[in-house]
Amino acid sequence: MKKILAIVLAIAMIASVSMLAACSGKGDTKSTAAEDAKSDTTEKATLTMATNAYFPPYEYYEGEKIIGIDAEVAQAIADKLDMKLEIVDIEFDSIIAGVQTGKYDMGMAGMTVTDERKQSVDFSDSYAKGIQSIIVPEDSEITSIDDILAEGAEYKLGVQLSTTGDLYISDDYEAAGKSADLITEFQTGNDAVAALSTGKVDAVIIDNEPAKSYVAASSGLKILDTEYVAEDYAICFAKDNTELKDKVNGALKELIADGTVKSIIDKYIKAE
Ligand code: GLN
Repeated sequence: MKKILAIVLAIAMIASVSMLAACSGKGDTKSTAAEDAKSDTTEKATLTMATNAYFPPYEYYEGEKIIGIDAEVAQAIADKLDMKLEIVDIEFDSIIAGVQTGKYDMGMAGMTVTDERKQSVDFSDSYAKGIQSIIVPEDSEITSIDDILAEGAEYKLGVQLSTTGDLYISDDYEAAGKSADLITEFQTGNDAVAALSTGKVDAVIIDNEPAKSYVAASSGLKILDTEYVAEDYAICFAKDNTELKDKVNGALKELIADGTVKSIIDKYIKAE
């Protein structure tokens, strides 16, 4: 009898405890807010951006974090679209293929819009301008692109693999009848500039803003005061992903119109 009473009591206690818990759960605003926050993060779609984080000031590491113009503009776009931004650092050369196959939602890497790339991917509106520059040692006899392309000249050049600097100079060398062996394609701009510092190449063709960062970080190098090619930077998407491209373009338009993009660029690129 005692045993039965004990069991009945135990059941009653469990029941009342769970009722209490249920009541307090309902009335507790804290737990409701926490649940809401949880469902917020789980519901937010992720926007994956493929980049190559060795392209200052557009994308580079500060400790473990990738920062820069592209990282901040992409974050502002993601915020507008209520999405969670995820930046993935891969080789520049793999970005277009990764976007084409849908592995990444978009590519943003100080990427120049070219007719050739337009055959593989679609581009957003342009959000920044780039210039292909020429870096040489301070005491170099090279003063312009004409010197490099002059008849009989055999300058060894360093470029970053598959960038527009690589593509343009390769075409120009071929047109000028110069050997492609004179051009060394490096995986990063950093590697190309290191080769220039040690005299393995005579000049590096690279975008002007990373050029400034690299020259500032090394000694005995300078940027020639001539523009090789002027270009537009834009974000690339898979050709069948017009829905995302249109959404990103809409957000980008607003961010350009309200001055956000300009203030991000001005934060990283100080007027000379
Ligand atoms: N603007 C150049 C290009 O698109 C270089 C970009 C980069 O190296 N991240 O080819």
